[in-house]
Amino acid sequence: MTYVVGLTGGIGSGKTTIANLFAELGVPLIDADIVARQVVAKGSPLLDKIVEHFGVDILAENGSLDRARLRQIIFNQSQEKHWLNNLLHPAIRQEMLQQIQQCSAPYLLFVVPLLIENNLIEICDRVLVIDVDASIQLERASKRDQNKIEIIKNIMASQVSRAERLRYADDVIENNMPLEQGGEKIKMQVSELHQHYLELAKSKESQCQKSS
Ligand code: ATP
Repeated sequence: MTYVVGLTGGIGSGKTTIANLFAELGVPLIDADIVARQVVAKGSPLLDKIVEHFGVDILAENGSLDRARLRQIIFNQSQEKHWLNNLLHPAIRQEMLQQIQQCSAPYLLFVVPLLIENNLIEICDRVLVIDVDASIQLERASKRDQNKIEIIKNIMASQVSRAERLRYADDVIENNMPLEQGGEKIKMQVSELHQHYLELAKSKESQCQKSS
């Protein structure tokens, strides 16, 4: 099976930015945020269940899920949040596993913000953490989302701490420098890691062949 490199980091750490550099080298990406949207796409059985539970008001005018409305509903209602998570998490996990199984590249990048929090490390052969200082994280995430600092702080508090995340890291890319200054260094690091992952993938494959 394809070698799986889990890529994680806190909100606004630069996961998408760095995952895209791997993609430029031809590495396939499976992005948990995209899969989470695919499983509740218009016409999906899961969307039907959500409508059954919350009513048709949970749909936007075009019939797709009104995510902002859903977020609002579950924000202060832990029971509803629990119900939703119980419905979505197994489906997301199953869909991600299926996408991994269908991949024929030597390795793929599994981009998951809550890799540690949702016990998805067990799916990975290796973990790459994107690490930034909290102050930079706050600044970049609030600028990108036009969000209040308080909202980003709350999201950061709901994620594992920086130190805890680093405990799980096999590899770390530090993304503190602005891209204009640090971009070349990061590209070099990505290129080195890419070679390393190709070698690791090859040695896993030959071990699998020996044992079969
Ligand atoms: P989230 O988990 O919130 O989706 P993320 O970890 O995928 O975020 P990105 O979307 O890649 O993070 O980056 C957050 C913001 O910071 C984006 O606007 C991105 O362009 C910017 N950014 C990322 N890295 C750098 C950098 N080294 N210098 C300047 N800006 C950066």
